[in-house]
Amino acid sequence: MDKIIKQITDPELISKIEQVIPFHGYLSTGAFIGIQMFNIAKDVLGFHDGERIYVTCETHNCIPDAFQVLGSATIGNKGMRIMDSGKMAVVVNKQVPMGVTSARGIRIYLDPLKTEKYPKLHAWYLNTEKIPHEEAIPELLKAGADVYSHEAIDITVPLKPAKYVKVCGKCGECFVRHGEEVFCSTCTGT
Ligand SMILES: [Zn+2]
Repeated sequence: MDKIIKQITDPELISKIEQVIPFHGYLSTGAFIGIQMFNIAKDVLGFHDGERIYVTCETHNCIPDAFQVLGSATIGNKGMRIMDSGKMAVVVNKQVPMGVTSARGIRIYLDPLKTEKYPKLHAWYLNTEKIPHEEAIPELLKAGADVYSHEAIDITVPLKPAKYVKVCGKCGECFVRHGEEVFCSTCTGT
C-alpha cells in the first residue's frame, strides 16, 4: 500500500486517501474508484469542501465509503442512498434551495469500453482474473478520469415529509408511521 502512495505526487489525492483508509479499513480498488468519482463530481458540479451533497450509489461495494468520508454524505444524514444494481456507478447532486423539487446532477460510471485500454483494471472490473488492488490501483492512477463516463441527469428532490410518531398498539414502542398504521412493522412483520 505504501508503495502505491509513494507513486502519488498530488498532495490532495494523498490527503483523500489518508481520510478513506481509516474509514474503509484499507485502500481497496473500489474505494479508490470512489475517490476518483468524487473528484469528477466535484469538478463538474463545482461544489466546495463542506457543501451538502446527495449521493445515490448503485453498489454497496466500497464506493459509498469514499463519498461518506470525503463528502459527508452519510446514510445517517440522508446524504447517501444505496440502490444496489451491482453497477460501479454513482449519481451526485448539490443541495437545492428549500421548495425546489428538481436538481441537475451527474451520473458517473466506470466505463468498460474505456477500461479495455488498461488490461489489469479491465480484468479486475469484469472479474475475469483475480487482480490484487496493488495491481489495479496503479492503472487507475495512470488512467485518472480517462476510464469514467458521465452524463448530466435531472433528479427529483423529494419533499421532506411531516413526521408522525405513534405508540404501537401491540409492543408499546414508538415508531414513525408512514400512513394510518396502528402497529409497528416489527409487530406486523411487514
Ligand atoms: Zn409494535
